[in-house]
Amino acid sequence: MKKYLLTPGPTPIPENANLAMMKPIIHHRTPEFANIFEEVIEGLKYIFQTKNDIIVFAATGTGGMQASISNFLSSSDKILVIEGGKFGQRFSKIGKSYGLDVIPIEVEWGKAVDPEIIRQKLDSNEDIKAVYTTLCETSTGVLTDIKTIAEIVSATDAILVVDAVSALGVCELKTDEWNVDVVISGSQKGLMTPPGLSFISVSEKAWAKTEDSNLPEFYFSAMQGKDKLSSFNTPWTPAVTLLQGLNAVIKDIKKQGLENLLNKYAKLAKATRSAVESLEMEIFASQPANAVTAIKAPQGIDSQEVVKYMRDELGVIISGGQAQLKGKIMRIAHMGYMEEFDMIVAISALEVALKKLGYDLELGKGVAVAQNILFE
Ligand code: PMP
Repeated sequence: MKKYLLTPGPTPIPENANLAMMKPIIHHRTPEFANIFEEVIEGLKYIFQTKNDIIVFAATGTGGMQASISNFLSSSDKILVIEGGKFGQRFSKIGKSYGLDVIPIEVEWGKAVDPEIIRQKLDSNEDIKAVYTTLCETSTGVLTDIKTIAEIVSATDAILVVDAVSALGVCELKTDEWNVDVVISGSQKGLMTPPGLSFISVSEKAWAKTEDSNLPEFYFSAMQGKDKLSSFNTPWTPAVTLLQGLNAVIKDIKKQGLENLLNKYAKLAKATRSAVESLEMEIFASQPANAVTAIKAPQGIDSQEVVKYMRDELGVIISGGQAQLKGKIMRIAHMGYMEEFDMIVAISALEVALKKLGYDLELGKGVAVAQNILFE
């Protein structure tokens, strides 16, 4: 059966990247590797929209999240964490594992945080050292208003750390213009490369915090990464093959232009949302991100069954809900190597699966709505 991978990570890999990863392995202490790494770092700066240093780890996104805590803080430091889903909660878990004083802002899943609450917390806790939030909370499909939050945080001594693992290169994020201190991402979503690379961008304000940070780290030392960055190398053996693939992707992204890419994802997301609504279903997120659309399962239908039917009977792989959203939502991604007809496949398969599972709908209705938006 032909498979269509339409999940919020990993995403499909473009042919150019696959071909680049088939090249013979090279040694990393060579000019050949330094050239590739330099291109990758410069390309990432373009996509992160930053002039800040970018440190690369051979780890998945969670490794970058951990590094964003261990490098900038000291034991018992106070941090503010926006918890509106599974990935916000992960920051709290990592913070607690390092003995930090974690102040959570709990946001109802599906809703976006009100930046004013962050302002109030910072005003009443002047010793908060960092604010942790998520650009696209992949578990709910919610987009966070990073621009407004950054205006608030940049006026304080705290640093702002943004998890853009699922949103980098997909949703707007102006790291320098908005004053975001640390941005975290990973290879397997918007960057269309297999899982295994994580990145953090680090502002001057954040580097200053590394000076007196006393949390234990070794492998994830950003300082050691920075030392080697000047010669376009890494402290430990890098994931050479993945970097070769990523370099090919970056070249394509530059050719297409970031702005065009973001506009494309906006269109894919709009078409999907409109199709879903035409089928009389609801979007789960009050402020939806263009990276992933979370759809409420219709009354009486278990979303896990929909996802299973699509995967096993139709070969179309989307995601269900996580944690308390299990059985309640379906998630279709619009990130990475995805185009107009991928959305047509997703919507068409969703219609077929829902009908098989007893939902009363007219086949093709959502597809037609999407076609009108995608090809107008
Ligand atoms: N943050 C977000 C927003 C994510 O979507 C993910 C992956 N789904 C992660 C963090 C964790 O990344 P990884 O699974 O690569 O460790």
